Amino acid sequence: MAFKPANNIQDLQYFGEFGGVNPSISDSSTYTFLSAKTMFDTFEGNADGCYLYSRHSTPSNLYLGQALAAMEGTETANVTASGMGAITSVLMQLCGAGDHIVSSRTIYGGTYAFLKNFTPRFNIETSFVDITKMDVVEAAITPKTKVLYCESVSNPLLEVADIVGLSALAKKHNLKLVVDNTFSPLSISPAQLGADVVIHSLTKFINGSSDTVGGVICGSQEFIDDLRNVNDGACMLLGATMDSLRAASILKNLRTLHIRMQQHSLNGMYLAEKFEKDGLKTVYPGLASHPSHELFKTMMNKKYGFGGMLTLDVGSLEKANALMELMQKQNLGYLAVSLGFYKTLFSAPGSSTSSEIPVEEQKAMGLSDGLIRFSIGLDADIERTYTMMKACMKELKILE
Ligand SMILES: *Cc1c(COP(=O)(O)O)cnc(C)c1O
Repeated sequence: MAFKPANNIQDLQYFGEFGGVNPSISDSSTYTFLSAKTMFDTFEGNADGCYLYSRHSTPSNLYLGQALAAMEGTETANVTASGMGAITSVLMQLCGAGDHIVSSRTIYGGTYAFLKNFTPRFNIETSFVDITKMDVVEAAITPKTKVLYCESVSNPLLEVADIVGLSALAKKHNLKLVVDNTFSPLSISPAQLGADVVIHSLTKFINGSSDTVGGVICGSQEFIDDLRNVNDGACMLLGATMDSLRAASILKNLRTLHIRMQQHSLNGMYLAEKFEKDGLKTVYPGLASHPSHELFKTMMNKKYGFGGMLTLDVGSLEKANALMELMQKQNLGYLAVSLGFYKTLFSAPGSSTSSEIPVEEQKAMGLSDGLIRFSIGLDADIERTYTMMKACMKELKILE
């Protein structure tokens, strides 16, 4: 039977302290114990259901974690203060001095900067590879490699990772496959395809209202327990803890994710097809021209489509900037980084979200100056949006 992530979320039943239809928010940093012995046991990690201190866990954070674990089909999950809080905790937990990581070269700029500039301080080295080439990935693995890292759909080039293939490689070489699924919640379920750990920035589609940062790590009970361990757990010790009030608000937004993703995908597909027909260089995993279109189809939960992210190459940075400014003036969206908002967001990744990546490397991976990354919004009338965007492109002579 097909994996149904939204059903899994919906089937969880929560009640608040007074029978509320939403769980009560636990607004406390610390918790009382009826006996001193239970407090000791909790520190030792042996008192199930007891709360200790909110950097460790809180009822509100556990509710949200439980829903996200249900969505990804993992045993459990731990929510974090941001996506980077999730990514850095996972990598610091899995790797120590002398270890090596094989990572996709097209990843979120912050993750790239962390692996390129920060982890070498701890003698953790990373090889960046073209993740779509299995032979290249395997050739980069050394006896020191501990982690294979990628994004299901990469930022910003929308390359698609063959998670089944990468999982086979990870098993063969005894590595952990860590997948950042921020661009494709519900559409792709990496743990069902063999990923060991699935990460999201909740800041994007999952929360969807661009009012907070947040992150999650979905994985086995054993791994999440390790992350929370008071003696050597990266989540506990690095301290990227989500606040309970935020956990409660993100859980409420998660309720509509399945509807939002369908609309983002519908709108993304519509615009991608139109712009490609108009002769623009369009990258969208839903287009037959996308190099990984067939691969995406083998991995996807069909109902949620190919997502809300697409890129257009309009030829030069000047044209890209002029188009983005004009579209914002026409209220077609905002010139802003981030994604997953109800409103369309656009930015030129080469000079913003991926500026951490040196220009030569940007060129090598196909990140051109004129590239605009779009997070397509929930527009109710996407035909009108298209007509208005096209008019902007004509005005700037990007289209005839
Ligand atoms: C935004 C983003 C992150 C970082 O998440 P924050 O919540 O901003 O810390 C990581 N990975 C991807 C793919 C992202 O888009």
